[in-house]
Amino acid sequence: MINQQHIKFDDEHQHKLYEIWPGKNRFYLSGRIMIGPQTDFGPNIFTWCGLILLPIFFTYSNGHQIWEANQLLFICTLLLAFLTLFFLFLTQFTEPGIIPRKNIFEIMNIQWDTESAWPMCETCSIKKPPGSSHCKQCDNCILMFDHHCPFVNNCIGKRNYKYFALFLASLLMQGLSILVSLSKINPEETNGFTDFLLIIVCFISAIIGVFCFFHLIVILSGSTTRQIIKHLEPTNSFDWIGRSQSLFDPTMIINTQQQVFDF
Ligand SMILES: [Zn+2]
Ligand SMILES: [Zn+2]
Repeated sequence: MINQQHIKFDDEHQHKLYEIWPGKNRFYLSGRIMIGPQTDFGPNIFTWCGLILLPIFFTYSNGHQIWEANQLLFICTLLLAFLTLFFLFLTQFTEPGIIPRKNIFEIMNIQWDTESAWPMCETCSIKKPPGSSHCKQCDNCILMFDHHCPFVNNCIGKRNYKYFALFLASLLMQGLSILVSLSKINPEETNGFTDFLLIIVCFISAIIGVFCFFHLIVILSGSTTRQIIKHLEPTNSFDWIGRSQSLFDPTMIINTQQQVFDF
C-alpha cells in the first residue's frame, strides 16, 4: 500500500499502473488479476472450500440413493453447485467499479467529470457521484457501492452486483435442491452423513434465504444496501445489462519521468 508518501521514479524506468496503485487491492499476473485486501483471506478461503466440499460431500454421502431416486434432480443439484462457483468467481474477479484517485486520473491524463453538488472524498480527492462511497477495507471509492463482502474478497458495486445477486440466488437454489434430494431418500437408507448434511444445508439455506430476500428489496427499490441502511435516496444505476467499461487498466504503462506524486 502506498499512502501519504512521496514517490520518486527514475526517468529511465517505466511502471505499470498496478505497481503504484494506492488502494489495498492485490494484483497478480502483472496486473491482469485484481482482488480485494489480504485481510479477507480467512472468510474467502472458507467460502471457496465450503462451496467446493458441499457437492463433493453430497455426492459421497447420498449420491447413489439420490441418483436411483431421481437422476434429473441429482444432475440439477450438481449443475447448481457449478453455477454457484462460477458466479462466485465472477463476483470476486470482476473489478467492482473503482473510481481512481485524483493522482491516478492525472497520471492517466483523464479528466474526471464532476458536479459541484457531489460530495468530496477526502482520501481520494475526487467528487463522488450519487450512490458512490469510499470502501474502508479496499481504500478506494466505488461506483454504486453496495457493501464490502469479505467472503467474496471484493467490494460489491456497479460492475459486479449482478454476479453477486446471481451467486446468492444459485447458492439458495443449490441448498433447496439438496434438501429436496435428501427428502427422496428412503429413511432406512440414511446415515450419519445424511443428518449432518441436512443440518448444514438447512443452516446455509436459512441464512442465504434472508440475504436473497433483502437483496430482492434492494433490486426492486433501485437502491443499494448502503442506501437502505442509511435511509438515502435510491439511485438505481446498477450495471444489469452488459458491463460498463472500467475506469482504469492496471496493466497500463505509465511514463514516470522524474515525477513526484503525492498520494
Ligand atoms: Zn475515496
Ligand atoms: Zn471493498
